[in-house]
Order: sequence, then structure tokens, then C-alpha cells
Amino acid sequence: MKVAMWHGAGKFVIEEKPDPSPGPGQVVIKVDTVGVCGTDVHITQGLFPATAPSVLGHEFSGTIAATGKGVGRRRVGEQVVCDITSHCGKCANCREWTISRCENSQRSSGALAEFSVVPAQSAHRLPEGLDLETAALTEPASCCLSGSEMWPMPKDAVVLVIGGGIMGQFTVAFLKRRGAKTVILSEPVASRRELGRQMGADVLNDPRAEDLGEVVMRETNGRGVHIAAEVVGKTELVGRCIELTRPRGNVLMIGVCPQKSILPTDMYDFHYREIGLRGAFGRGNCFKRTLHVLPELNLNGVISARYPLERTYDAIYDSGQGRGVKLVVKPNGI
Ligand SMILES: [Zn+2]
Ligand SMILES: [Zn+2]
Repeated sequence: MKVAMWHGAGKFVIEEKPDPSPGPGQVVIKVDTVGVCGTDVHITQGLFPATAPSVLGHEFSGTIAATGKGVGRRRVGEQVVCDITSHCGKCANCREWTISRCENSQRSSGALAEFSVVPAQSAHRLPEGLDLETAALTEPASCCLSGSEMWPMPKDAVVLVIGGGIMGQFTVAFLKRRGAKTVILSEPVASRRELGRQMGADVLNDPRAEDLGEVVMRETNGRGVHIAAEVVGKTELVGRCIELTRPRGNVLMIGVCPQKSILPTDMYDFHYREIGLRGAFGRGNCFKRTLHVLPELNLNGVISARYPLERTYDAIYDSGQGRGVKLVVKPNGI
């Protein structure tokens, strides 16, 4: 099989490897669609820890091609989306944190290849009404579903989402579904603002054309928003969220800030106005539930471009340049 092997920085080499065979409890997936994630972009820029050489790609769907010992052969041919981790349900993290932080997780092999091996438990059958390409959005969507449920949603809440990439789009959709009265989306790229409208945003802000602070104060009678979500991964924008949140309002960090970054905010103001700040990294316990929510969203146009395996780096580079919303790689052909 062909594998897009990552050798550090922006270097990917297409290498020929033996087709994988499933171990006990595993399945081999013929990969259909791999979503390029902000994390992949950060890895190639040295901003997120990873060891080369390795096969990247963790948001993927495909068809079960082979099953290992202990897995029913009837699953061959099943269309699935894969969770990158498995869980034991017994360890301290599974019990006290979330199943996506299981200490005994068996990670799947990377998906930027024609085939990938995953624990059978991590391969979830697609529900009715969900196609393979859309299903590849399950991982990013599940992170946003988990994140959007971190804070209670007050009645008639005005919420702010900064960032209209794929994660911002799902955050808009899920905060709206949770009952936010007004969702303000701040995003400089026009096409992403338009998509935000489709996902449920009520007020669109181009921060380069109109001061976001003025928009927020206009929509909230000068009080600030109830919940502000940072979905870019820039510390100054987390600080901005804190500024624009009302007293006892809550801030949600869904964007991934670089390691060792420091929060630039007025700590006196943060303390005095009793703002809440909550990190939200990863899928929590939401992966499986997200599969059933996706068919209820209007995701037309979310997948902006498709790349063959040979152009993996182009997909990651273009994604880092902010091209489109979600770029995907199709290891077995477009
Ligand atoms: Zn991801
Ligand atoms: Zn566990």
C-alpha cells in the first residue's frame, strides 16, 4: 500500500509498505476520506508535539477491509468512521475525566495511507443518512460538541464565537442548538462568514471592517456576552473573549494555543468581574453521539477541496493558509 510518510517539518514522502493485517481485536480500514486538521498544520510547523517519521491523519472514514481474531467477519464491508483512540472504561481517566483520555488507549495507525489499522471498538458504523465524506468530520465536530456543553446555557443568551474555520462553524451550530438566542460570529474571511450564517450565526462580524467590541456591546446593551468561545488558538483572542464577556460570563477555549503560551489579559479585571475560563480539548465522551447529530446539520460546502494522497502536503499547507473550510485527502482516489 501507499503511505504518505511524514519526515518532519513539511516533508512528506510517498512510501510503499506491506498491506497491514489486523491483529486480534483489530480491523483494517480501506481509507476513504481523511480530514486535514489544524493539529496537522501545527505539527508541520513545530507547534504541536509529534515524532517523525510517522503517518499523520486522525480524522477519517472508510470501509472495513479485514477483521482480526475476535471480531465478527460480518463487519467486512461496513462503512465506518474511526475514533483515533480506544478506551478501557476502567482506568482513572476513563472514570474521572473522559473516555477519549483513556490511559490504556490503543492509538490507531495514521490515516494518510491507503489502509489503516484500528481497534474494532474505534470503528463506528455510519448511521442512516451519513455518507463517508461527511462522516470524516465527526472528530472535529465531536470536539466542538463536547466543548459547547462545558458551560450551562443561560436563557436568551448572547454568545460570541471568534473564528470561522471548521471548529468555529461547528461551535456556532452546537451553541445555537443548545438554545443561544443570538450567536455572533467574528471571522475575517467572507466565505466563512457566509457559511457561519448557514450553520446558525445571527450576527456576522468582519473584524477588519468593524470593531468586534462595538458589535458585542450593541448586541448586549453594553453588558458583554454570556459565553465567548475562542476557536482560533491565539492567546490574544482568548484575552479578547475575556474582555467581551459580561460579569460572571464564561469563556470557552476550543482553539489550541501553542505550548507554553501565556494568557495576555488583565488579571484584575478577570478576577473582579468573576469570569469563568474553561479549556475544552478533544472529544470528551461525545464521539459516538456526534455521528447521530451530523445528519441534522446543513453541511453543504463545508468540505472545500479534495486532494490525492500524493498532494498531502499541499492539503496541509493550503489548510494552514486558511484556504476553504475543510480540506480532505482521499488516499484511494478522488
Ligand atoms: Zn483533528
Ligand atoms: Zn481507560
